[in-house]
Amino acid sequence: MIIFKKAKPLTAYLLNLKKENKKIGFVPTMGALHEGHLSLLREASKNNDYTICSIFVNPTQFNNPEDFKHYPKTIEKDIEQLVLSGCKILFLPHLTEIYHRGYQKKHYNLGPIENILEGFYRPGHFQGVSEVVDRLMQIVSPHNLYLGQKDFQQCMVIKKLMELTGRENEIQLVVVPTLREKNGLAMSSRNLRLDQNEKELATSIYNELMAIKNRLTSSPFEQLKKTAVLNLENIGFQVDYFEIANRETLATANTPNEPLVALVAATLGKVRLIDNLILN
Ligand code: AMP
Repeated sequence: MIIFKKAKPLTAYLLNLKKENKKIGFVPTMGALHEGHLSLLREASKNNDYTICSIFVNPTQFNNPEDFKHYPKTIEKDIEQLVLSGCKILFLPHLTEIYHRGYQKKHYNLGPIENILEGFYRPGHFQGVSEVVDRLMQIVSPHNLYLGQKDFQQCMVIKKLMELTGRENEIQLVVVPTLREKNGLAMSSRNLRLDQNEKELATSIYNELMAIKNRLTSSPFEQLKKTAVLNLENIGFQVDYFEIANRETLATANTPNEPLVALVAATLGKVRLIDNLILN
C-alpha cells in the first residue's frame, strides 16, 4: 500500500492511473477503522482496479469540541487493517493539505435536509461534511464513492453536494448496508469509547428500531416513537430524536404508505450514537 500525505502527488498519481483506464474506488473515513469501514473497502475492491481510503478527522464537521478531542485514533492498527484488506492507496493528509493557505470557505445550499435531525442537533455539521467531501473529490476525483448507510442523512447530503458541484454524472455513489455486531449494535468508531456495560445497553437502539419495524402497522407512529424514546430513556440514554421519516425527503411520516426509514440519535454516558433502519 502506498501512503500519500500530500494532495498534489496523489492527484498526479491517480491521474496517471485514470489515463491507463483504471477504475478508482474511494472510501473516505475518519479512521479508528472497524469491520464496517472494511466492508466498504471490500465492496470498492470488488468493483474497481484501485481502492483508495482516506483517514482524516475533519475538525469543521464537529460542532462539539469535546467530541473532536476524544475522537478515537488508532492509526497503526488502521494501516495494518488496510494492508490486510488489500487497499492499495491511503491518503493521510495533514490539516493544511485539506484546508491549504488561501483556502476559501464555501457555503453549500443543501436545502431542507441540512437543518433537520442530525443537522438540527449538530449545527454546521453538514456544511463541514460538505466542505471536506468537496475537497476530497477535488483531490481524488474517483469513479466510485463508497458511503455507509449507517450515516443515512449524510448519504443524502453528499448526493445533494454532488449535484451542487456538478459531479453527479462523473462520480457514482455506492451506499453500503450498515454492518452490525452479532447483537445488532451498529459498528462505529465511537463504540470504542463505550465500556462493556454501555456496549450491552447500546444494543437497545437496534432493538427499538426493530420493534418499530415489527409494529409499523399496529400503532400510530407518534405512539411507536414515544414508546421507543421512553424505553431508551429508562435505561439511561438521552435521546435527541427518534424519527420515522420519508426515506427520500426525511420529512416526518405518519402513514406506512410511503418509503420509510427510522432514524435515531441518543447519548449514553459521554458517547453520542446514531443508527437507522429501513422500515418497508
Ligand atoms: P467515519 O469514519 O465514521 O466517517 O465513516 C466512514 C464511512 O464508513 C462512512 O461512509 C460511514 O457511513 C461508513 N460506516 C461507518 N460505520 C459503518 C457501519 N457500521 N457499516 C457500514 N458502513 C459504516
